[in-house]
Amino acid sequence: MQGTLSKRIEMVNERIAKACHRSGRSTSEVKLVAVTKRVAVENMRDALQCGLDTFGENRVQELLNKYEDIGKAVKWHLIGHLQRNKAKYLAGKVELIHSLDRLELALLLDKLGNDQGIPWQVLVQVNVSGEDTKYGLSPEELPEFFDVVQDLQGIKVRGLMTMAPLEDDPEKTRPVFRNLRLLRDQIAQERPHFDLCHLSMGMTNDFEIAVEEGATLVRIGSAIFSSFYQ
Ligand SMILES: *Cc1c(COP(=O)(O)O)cnc(C)c1O
Repeated sequence: MQGTLSKRIEMVNERIAKACHRSGRSTSEVKLVAVTKRVAVENMRDALQCGLDTFGENRVQELLNKYEDIGKAVKWHLIGHLQRNKAKYLAGKVELIHSLDRLELALLLDKLGNDQGIPWQVLVQVNVSGEDTKYGLSPEELPEFFDVVQDLQGIKVRGLMTMAPLEDDPEKTRPVFRNLRLLRDQIAQERPHFDLCHLSMGMTNDFEIAVEEGATLVRIGSAIFSSFYQ
């Protein structure tokens, strides 16, 4: 099965490279975060052998179970909604949380980060499309949110994240990704003490559009792992 996996990874990397080329970007600007929800640890080990080193999980418990097994051999990103009672279990384990989606969680992470003496690296999830079903701050809530978090020492905001609506024609997602980039640029300009280098956007259905619009982290699951889902 590793043959299939390496082919799929190669294909995804090639599509990322082509999207970079089309938009005049370097492939070194875009990191593939392999989304491994519903993927067994043994298949993750194969993916590691194929050169993937950063894995995104959307549920804390699944991440922790896999962490027991693979531990620090890979980098772990939390990409899904984080309940406040679970946050403490992630301390020292995750490189990046993509899904900081409310002020209450920012304040809790800040407290944990200060207690540990290690700030959390986080991205702020923005609900650009305004769908009711999606987590994240609305664009209008961002100024007030950044007013508060700029004084926090226990979290380091490194950029923004969004999920686009699922569209039959991925081209339709372009305004969502473009808006996230413009929001980031505006905040970065108004608040130069932040280093908002990351835009986490693009999934299997739409990652090429996201790369063209400036994604630095693409979160890709099914294009790589669909035949391995449990
Ligand atoms: C599952 C998931 C992905 C990956 O989705 P695919 O369509 O399988 O590539 C990306 N981001 C988040 C937050 C997810 O939950």
